[in-house]
Amino acid sequence: TSEQNVLLVTGGCGFIGSQFVRWWLGREPGDRIVVLDHLTYAGRVENLTGLWEHPHLSFHHADVADEEAVRRICTEEAVTAIVNFAAESHVDQSIVSPLAFTRTNVLGTHVLLEVARTLGLRFHQVSTDEVYGDVPAPQRRTERDVLVPRSPYAASKAAAEHLVQAYFETYALHVTVTRGSNTVGPYQYPEKVLPLFATNALLGHPLPLYGDGHQQRDYMHVDDHCAAIALVLRRGQPGEIYNVGTGCEMSNLELARTVLDTLHADPALIQHVADRPGHDRRYAVDTARLGALGWTPRFTPDQAVARAAAWYPENRWWWEPIRAGAFRAFYRQQYEGR
Ligand code: NAD
Repeated sequence: TSEQNVLLVTGGCGFIGSQFVRWWLGREPGDRIVVLDHLTYAGRVENLTGLWEHPHLSFHHADVADEEAVRRICTEEAVTAIVNFAAESHVDQSIVSPLAFTRTNVLGTHVLLEVARTLGLRFHQVSTDEVYGDVPAPQRRTERDVLVPRSPYAASKAAAEHLVQAYFETYALHVTVTRGSNTVGPYQYPEKVLPLFATNALLGHPLPLYGDGHQQRDYMHVDDHCAAIALVLRRGQPGEIYNVGTGCEMSNLELARTVLDTLHADPALIQHVADRPGHDRRYAVDTARLGALGWTPRFTPDQAVARAAAWYPENRWWWEPIRAGAFRAFYRQQYEGR
């Protein structure tokens, strides 16, 4: 029917993208989802377990920076909206190999915008609160504040946002942006702090905590993040940006303790390691604008972290092969200096 949405979900085999696909198919049975993913190390077909036979899901293995492929897929599938999750997403990787971040996060977003413009598609950009840079307490950033990204990852996400905004101003393309806070949940690649700590705790390995562990983060559950993106897709104002977060904070040390407590592991496993260069001390966003659309998070950071951690002991089938495979080399280089 004319009311059927056909969403191109880029990065739909990643952590948040796959949960968004699951979330949307469960709630909008009339719509179709087209996943476009390049299947980098972080993109895993297992993340869509249980959905591959779904009649309203299709998959294309492609690169968002490949204009010809993106245009062909959008045309063939009669896509009506693009939801862009595809990204290189790990700050530590962006310090080691930053150019890949510009290619996927900036050029890739630009290609998607260009296809959206020429085919007349709705466009949503999944961005991050890291674009604001370090936020001194007790301030909170609103959507009107200046962007001061401090890592190559954050800079590439900020650059992408500027292109999104330019397409709204110049071409009146129907765009929206969400700036989500640090997200936790099932199927998160173990390079990120929560699954790294949870799987280390389950393996009896030390938890490498950067610096003093007093960095403050607004940890949000992935289901809350997906609900916010869905709300903005339906009700967001064209051209508008929405912060997404719980409005509460938790330190990385508290996160480590909550993970250990949830998994009944030894608190002595916490091991302080040298801090990440340019590590932002604090992220904090004001979510009043999203609140006005009717969004409230279901979980506080403490609840989100405990709930997310509890998934890992039940799902060793998912993370054990990752930890035993190529991830090991990264881990050794990053945390064991070899
Ligand atoms: P992820 O690394 O788990 O997933 C990224 C996905 O993008 C993978 O499936 C990967 O294969 C795919 N991808 C990478 N390069 C691609 C390319 N060139 N073409 C097509 N696909 C490609 O990341 P995530 O944590 O799920 O993050 C998803 C989005 O949400 C990102 O845009 C990220 O910036 C944003 N975000 C993440 C968080 C967080 O805490 N994880 C918070 C706020 C915003």
